[in-house]
This record gives sequence, C-alpha cells and structure tokens, in this order.
Amino acid sequence: MDVMRVPSTTSHVVPDGSSPTGEPGGRLEALMAAAGALAWELDLAGGEPIWLAGGHDGRNQPGDGIAAGEPSVADPGDRERVLAAALAALGGSRWLSSTLPVTMADGTTRWYALTGQVVAADEASAGRMCAIALDVTRERETLDRLRMHSEQARELIVRLRTGPHLGFEYVSPACLYFTGYTEKEMYDNGIAYAFGAVEPSAVARIREDLLRGSIEGKSYDFPSRRKDGSVLWVRATFRQSVDEAGHLLLEIAVRDIGQMRALELEVTRLRLTDGLTGLLSRQALEEQWPLLRERAQVSGTWTVLAHVDIDRFGLVNSGLGISAGDQLLKSVGHRLAQSVGAGDLVVRLGSDDFLLVLTGLDSRRSALRSARSLTGAFVEPIAGDSGRLSVTVSVGASLIPPGPWDAGDGLDSRLAEADVAMRAAKARGGNGVEVFAGGMRAEARDKVELLAALRDAVDQNQLVLFYQPIVRLSDQAVAGAEALVRWEHPRRGLLLPGEFVGLAEETGWIVPIGAWVLDTACRAAQAWTGILGGGSAIAVNLSARQLGTADLVGAITSALDRSTLAPGDLVLEITETAFIDDFDAAVWTLRRVSDLGVHLALDDFGTGYSSLAYLAQLPIDRVKIDRSMVAGLESNPHSRAVVAGIVGMADALEIQTIAEGVESVEQLRMLVELGCDLAQGFLFSRPVPLSEMEQLVARDVAAGGKSTRSRKLHH
Ligand code: C2E
Ligand code: MG
Ligand code: MG
Repeated sequence: MDVMRVPSTTSHVVPDGSSPTGEPGGRLEALMAAAGALAWELDLAGGEPIWLAGGHDGRNQPGDGIAAGEPSVADPGDRERVLAAALAALGGSRWLSSTLPVTMADGTTRWYALTGQVVAADEASAGRMCAIALDVTRERETLDRLRMHSEQARELIVRLRTGPHLGFEYVSPACLYFTGYTEKEMYDNGIAYAFGAVEPSAVARIREDLLRGSIEGKSYDFPSRRKDGSVLWVRATFRQSVDEAGHLLLEIAVRDIGQMRALELEVTRLRLTDGLTGLLSRQALEEQWPLLRERAQVSGTWTVLAHVDIDRFGLVNSGLGISAGDQLLKSVGHRLAQSVGAGDLVVRLGSDDFLLVLTGLDSRRSALRSARSLTGAFVEPIAGDSGRLSVTVSVGASLIPPGPWDAGDGLDSRLAEADVAMRAAKARGGNGVEVFAGGMRAEARDKVELLAALRDAVDQNQLVLFYQPIVRLSDQAVAGAEALVRWEHPRRGLLLPGEFVGLAEETGWIVPIGAWVLDTACRAAQAWTGILGGGSAIAVNLSARQLGTADLVGAITSALDRSTLAPGDLVLEITETAFIDDFDAAVWTLRRVSDLGVHLALDDFGTGYSSLAYLAQLPIDRVKIDRSMVAGLESNPHSRAVVAGIVGMADALEIQTIAEGVESVEQLRMLVELGCDLAQGFLFSRPVPLSEMEQLVARDVAAGGKSTRSRKLHH
C-alpha cells in the first residue's frame, strides 16, 4: 500500500447510491467540505485504503485508485505509524487517534487529526477501519508559532486541552530545560506534577478562577520545584479559548521570575528596615508577629514587649539641631540592639519611639528582670559630635505569659499595653520602667478600640472637615481658610485631631486620611475661591508620614484635577517634624510639590528648632507663627521680640507670615503693628462646618471685607 487516496463520491457510505434526499452524496460531501474533513476506510488485511469523502477536487471517481491530484499521506513514516496504530486498535480499544500531514491535490500540506474505529473484524476478515480526519492545520500553525516564540523567548509554554483527552498538547523545550523533566514525564503526569510542588494556595486560586471562567489573561506567581528539587519562581499567564468541540484550551506562558523575585525581596527588606537606624520597621514587626507567637508557644516561654521612649527628645532636636537628633536616635538604637539577645527584636516605631521584643524568658521573674534592666543601657552618656549627652529613657513593658496567646490578644493590644505603661513611666518623671498592670487596662482597651475604629473611619465617611477662616491683616477681609479634620465617632461624638491624628500617624493610616482631606478640602474651596479671588484660599495640613510616601505629588495633582482648583490656591502646611528623618529627601519632595505651583507653609513655627537659616533652603512661601508665641505677645517681651524677629526675617526672605491662635483685639493690634500679613484665631472665628464657612464668606464680601473687624465672624 503506497498512498491513501480519496474518492470523489460517497458511494461507500450510502451503499445503495442514494441519499435521503435522493441526491447521492451531495449533502454529506458538502458537510465534509464545510468541516474541512476527510473520511476513509481501511482494509486492515492490507488492501488499499479507500477515501470516502472530503478534500477532493472532483477530478476522479471512487475506486479509481491512486491518482495524481488526490490528497495523500506522503511521508512513509507517517503511513507506517497510522497503519501500526490501526492494527493495534484491532486487538485493543478498537479506537485510533493520530495526527499526520497530508499532501493535498494542489501540492500543499495540511495537517489532519484522525479518529478511527474498527468497524468489522471476525474470523473471516481481518477487519476494516473507518476513520474521519479533521483539518487541524490552523492549530498546528499556532503550535509551531508558539514553538518558535518559546524557543526564542525562553519562555516556558504549555498548552493544555480538556475534553476526552485532557492533557498537554505542547510543551516548549525551554519548559523542559527549566523544569528538568523529559517530555514524556510531562505528558505522562500532567501539569500539577510538572509544576509540581506548587504552593497549594496557588493551585487553589488557579482552580477557582478556572471554574469561575475568569482565568483569561490572569497571571499567578508561585514557587515551583524542579525535578532536582531546587525551587523555580515562576509567573504563569493564562490564555483561555474554547475549541469547536467545546473543549477548553489553555495556553500557559510560564516565565522564570527568579531575578525579579530577588529584586522584590530587596525592596521588601528596605521596606522592613528603618532608614535612619537600620533597625526593623513596624511593618517588619507585624510580619514577624505570628512567628514570634508560634515560637513562644512551642518553647513555653515568656515574652516581653517593651516600648522605649527617649526622655525630652524634643529638646535635643530644638537645642542641638536635627542632625544631632538623628545621631542620637542612631546611638540609642545601637545601644538597645546591643542590650538584647539573639532571638530578640529591636524595632523603631517612629520618631523617638522604639520597641523591643524580648523572647525565650523562662519565668515571670526573668521577664520582669529583663524589662527592668533596659534603662541600664543608658547609664553611660552617649558621645556625639556635640559632646557627651546624658540620655534617659522611659520604658513601658507588656509581659506575655507562655501558653496559647489569647486569640484577641493581637499585636495591636500588646503595643497599646506597652504604650500605656510607657506613658505611666513618663508621668512618674521618666527614666524608669513600668509594667502594664490590670489597672491600665481600660486605657489600653480604649486605644485598641480607637485604632480598630479608625481603620473604618474613612470608608464609613466618619471624617469631616471644619474650616477656620484666615484673615488678611491689611484690610481684615477673609482671604481663605485652613481645613481641620474631625472624626464623628459613632459613640464618642466629635473627636478633635489631638485625639486621633497621632494614632493615625503612628499606624500609617494618616496617608489615606490625608489623601481624603486633600481631596475634600480642594473641592470645598471651590465655594469661595471665585468670590475671594485667587491666591492661597485653602490651607491643608500635611503630616510627615505623607511626605515620605512615594506618590504625594500624584495625590496632590489628582486632588487639584478633580476639583479644578488652581495650584496657587492651595497651601500645604508642614511642621518641622517633616524634616527629622531625612532632611534632603523632604526638601527634594517639597521642591516637586512647589514646582506644581502649590504653596507651602511652615506650621507651628517658634516651637521647635525654628531656625530661620534653614528656611532659606526650603521652598517655603509662608511661616505660621505658633499659638504659644501669639499668646505671649501681651505679657511676655520675649515672645514679642521673637515674633518681631520672625516677621523681619520672613520679610527679608519674601516669605508671608501668618499668626495662629489670635484670641484678643490687643494681640491683633500688635500683630498689625509688627507687620504680620495674615491671621487666624478664635477672635475671628472658630473652625466651622463648610456651610457656615460659605455663609461667612458671603457675609464678609457683602460687608466689603469689613465684617471681621467688627468681629461679626466671632462665634
Ligand atoms: P494646627 O495646624 O496648628 O491647627 C490649628 C489648631 O489651633 C486647630 O486645632 C485650631 O482649632 C486651633 N485654634 C485655632 N484658633 C485658635 C485660637 O484662637 N485659640 C486656640 N487655643 N486654638 C486655636 P485642631 O483643629 O484641634 O487641630 C490641631 C492640630 O491637628 C492642627 O494644628 C494640625 O497640626 C492637626 N491637624 C488638623 N487637621 C489635620 C489634618 O487634616 N491632617 C493632619 N496631618 N493634621 C491635622
Ligand atoms: Mg495647620
Ligand atoms: Mg499650627
């Protein structure tokens, strides 16, 4: 038998030569042509194969034998393979399934997938097989293209089809190379085996998305194990389609992301360490908490959480300067790290707040002893550029007994306990250790509750902004307002920032809260920018934490875009704490903000370091003279001199001055005399809700900007 060939009619299918329509073979032939299918019959005794239908150009008649211009299986190897499979089917499943190239009448090659069944076999005859062949050339080409791509891109490509024969259709050489499996091992064992020890959670996610029909285009990162046991980090991207038979076809591009993972780990490491001291960050503590708990449980030992706060750290910062403050923080961190054991953690929570986790303590007594010994690390003064500094710390400790840590006893509660105890130590004058006791519980619980509630405050629209008018001193007209956040706590009523902004800063929640404030304030200011004319109509407080976020500039730009407020109408108020951690980074960020055309004000000026010298290095447009200086104007000559100095310096630097906390007419008079530009305070108005602010502006404009002088604004 040389060549299989196709007859031109369907006489073998409809032996009586008629079709149900009386139109011999016409319908079946049309169907076969539409499906791109061929049908043939094979005499397994070795007779000539007879093509039944399809793929024919119509020049020959059935039984003509092999003729040029008929589709033929040209490759002898393929013919052998098909025949062998067909013969095997005689004794076994009686089914044949194979794919092979066929040379068509016009000389081109097309690929056909054969499915055959033994139709007759008895003692008398060796048997016949009927088979249908479907044109799979397009799919074959796709596979070839895939093969080519995968070989070039070294991407691992896997193609799977569900249906009667679930399994791999194609596995790229790169895939074999990376996984270490042979093609046969892959085909025999399936995908879960090949990407075998995949994280169960990754497998579950993939399966879930598959079942939900939402896997198309999705990527999954997971570690998989090579045949030799080593770990390969991969990103598998799924493409899904359905073939004509309704079977799911999955094409999975698997990329080796080992290098990317390494980078990611490095970024994580950076995120988990505190930039200034190199100690762990709060985030790292959160991540390690479950592990600490597990270890304590297994070993049955006590754990101590100790909150360490430097006494009067503010004085170092304001007295000796920020770099001396930084140096001190590093030294304190270093001392603490040296005073703990190998399995213990040293974390920097924020400015001058540290947290130690002391582990593996065998009794309450040794836990107490370890906590009490912490102040001992500071007996020796700390040497720095500005000489030797005597440092004391206040320590608050929470002692966790062995045995299962209560489910409700999360990290937050323990931190709150240590914090409350630390405050108790401060209240006793500092330089001491307090251990959390039952009597402090209510306070600690309050803090934890507040923290939990704060997490929902933004989502549940519990935050509101109040606005305090800013008055221009030259004509005492309203020139804008400062936005001040309040929290409408569902049980406690309206909370002032003093009760929750600190907590929000500690936990990082100030970042989303701050974004909301910015957005809301910019929108609100639309109500009066048109009436008051341009120029710094809304002031928004920015926390140091926000300054450290990657996308501050983006957040500002989008708040401006959404509200269509001009950048020049927005002032962002920052305090000196913004510069404590990293002066250069803060300046860099502020320059970007300033480049947007947004104005910057230095808040609470006169309380901290307050060096006018470094004002010159900052892109600052305004200084806000702290309330304490304004309060001292009438009685304290020193305050008067400081305010005069600030105004004079600011004038020279062409920086605007604004006085906050103006409460009396006499203060107002003195500020005007000193040449201060703007003022804000209860004398004019308390912070008020938006609707009142709008009325107030309308009234002021109607009075020609004179309503503030006659103190009509005063509530
Ligand atoms: P600040 O930026 O210095 O705001 C001025 C504070 O002084 C406000 O307190 C205001 O109500 C109060 N005040 C205004 N006039 C007078 C006066 O004549 N006498 C007295 N005794 N006080 C006056 P508030 O609203 O409690 O805010 C406190 C601080 O909370 C603000 O100080 C600011 O640092 C912070 N804060 C407020 N809102 C936000 C915010 O949205 N984000 C951030 N990060 N901090 C905010
Ligand atoms: Mg402010
Ligand atoms: Mg202020």
